Amino acid sequence: MKKTPFVTKEKLAEIVREVPTPFHIYDEAGIRRNCEAIRKAFAWNRGYKEYFAVKACPNPFLIRIMKEYGCGCDCSSLTELMLSQAVGCVGDDIMFSSNATPAEEFRYARKYHAIINLDDFTHIAFLEKVTGDLPKKISCRYNPGGMFKISNDIMDNPGDSKYGMTKEQLFEAYRVLKEKGVEEFGIHAFLASNTVTNEYYPLLAKVLFETVVEIREKTGVEISFINLSGGVGIPYRPEQEPNDILEIGEGVRRVYEEVLVPAGLGEAAIYTEMGRFMTGPYGGLVTTAIHEKHIHKEYIGCDACAVNLMRPAIYGAYHHITVMGKEDAPCDHMYDVTGSLCENCDKFAIDRMLPEIAVGDLLFIHDTGAHGFAMGYNYNGKLRSAEVLLKEDGSYQIIRRAEMPKDYFATFDGFDVYDKLFV
Ligand SMILES: *Cc1c(COP(=O)(O)O)cnc(C)c1O
Repeated sequence: MKKTPFVTKEKLAEIVREVPTPFHIYDEAGIRRNCEAIRKAFAWNRGYKEYFAVKACPNPFLIRIMKEYGCGCDCSSLTELMLSQAVGCVGDDIMFSSNATPAEEFRYARKYHAIINLDDFTHIAFLEKVTGDLPKKISCRYNPGGMFKISNDIMDNPGDSKYGMTKEQLFEAYRVLKEKGVEEFGIHAFLASNTVTNEYYPLLAKVLFETVVEIREKTGVEISFINLSGGVGIPYRPEQEPNDILEIGEGVRRVYEEVLVPAGLGEAAIYTEMGRFMTGPYGGLVTTAIHEKHIHKEYIGCDACAVNLMRPAIYGAYHHITVMGKEDAPCDHMYDVTGSLCENCDKFAIDRMLPEIAVGDLLFIHDTGAHGFAMGYNYNGKLRSAEVLLKEDGSYQIIRRAEMPKDYFATFDGFDVYDKLFV
């Protein structure tokens, strides 16, 4: 499918007059449409809830939009918990996913009555020790090990992943938790990332639903919520077919009817913790081409760099690029599109066929709405960019200002770099 930016060149030209590039821009209308589709896809399940994976796009303005559709927050750090609180998510609206979690974060999660998802058997004792007791409601994370396959295609390798408990540990965990007075139980698994197929959730659901039946047989514990977590992907490449969330919801429903309902477990709530699918396609990184360089290869240097979008540098991930205003021009030039970090991996695209780019052209790097800005860092002293929301009515709002040097220097307490340099 041809990839088209959700914002016009004229609108970007207007925004750039107030907000210098680079910046991330988000599409409110797209986020809302997607929230509605998800709600519809799982409407068959009475307890359904999406816990937006805050790490994918930790901006309270965006989380607040999703909250309007009943979404909660999936958190795994102190500041993510605080962000959730700030948008009014507390108690059952927060899933706290632990994994090598510090005591302080468990305490904070308990204080605001978040649902805790235990990553390991030893966390039962740890949680009890550091918070004084166990909550009445708790979830456990399952890792079945081995390879996770769809037909013969390997989707991911849970056997190599640091998360979750083995099946034996899981059974033992529920026995111990029940003995210690826990009353409500959940189960969670995340077995494959960025799956671009409608079969992932239904297959995962089958694994989890069958495990839920087994847990009741072996331990007497009845699981009341089943968390399919994240992993629903998006088509980063134009030739990829997007997931159909309605078909995914229907696929999960069929497995639910097949496995849980006959077992008398037809009251169980389905939870999801999608991050990428919620915001990924509804964000773009806007950058200006500021240099061209002709050596052994052709380079376009832009004012964004890997600190604004790290995925290409660390995973070699593909992000589609549109040269604004040249959507219909032939892609007859091969470029490496780079940032300015002193790291050769700082390339948004390698050997990419694009229209001829002139210095000053605006580039729209697609699908940066999840794990984009969020993965940002300060290497080379680069500062984090602004984030802009393109609103439904066509206006725009700055939902995070760009970092300034004073932010970068703010943590050198006792060494007043900023005062010395900038007064
Ligand atoms: C990262 C993560 C998610 C979201 O994953 P996506 O691939 O963005 O959907 C959900 N749950 C947990 C526990 C995670 O760590």
